[in-house]
Amino acid sequence: MLHNVVEDHVAEWLEKVLAQYDCCKCEKCRMDMMAMSLNKLKPHYVVSRDLYSKTRYLDQNAHNTILMAVVTSVEFVKDHPRHEKI
Ligand SMILES: [Zn+2]
Repeated sequence: MLHNVVEDHVAEWLEKVLAQYDCCKCEKCRMDMMAMSLNKLKPHYVVSRDLYSKTRYLDQNAHNTILMAVVTSVEFVKDHPRHEKI
């Protein structure tokens, strides 16, 4: 089964970044943030979902790129949630 390892990293970073933000963290907003981040990034597919390929693939540069994409997406969705502001 094909798996995009960038997705794992985005999900991890999203948790860390959201912990720093006082914004809506509902499922809808999280999904929007995920989708937006992933659309900014180049996918990296592996055949199986093993941790080995996940850690092997990413260098510091790639981590920074992913973090930037996540932060930008969180900032955007925070200001433009696709539901009424709470
Ligand atoms: Zn929300």
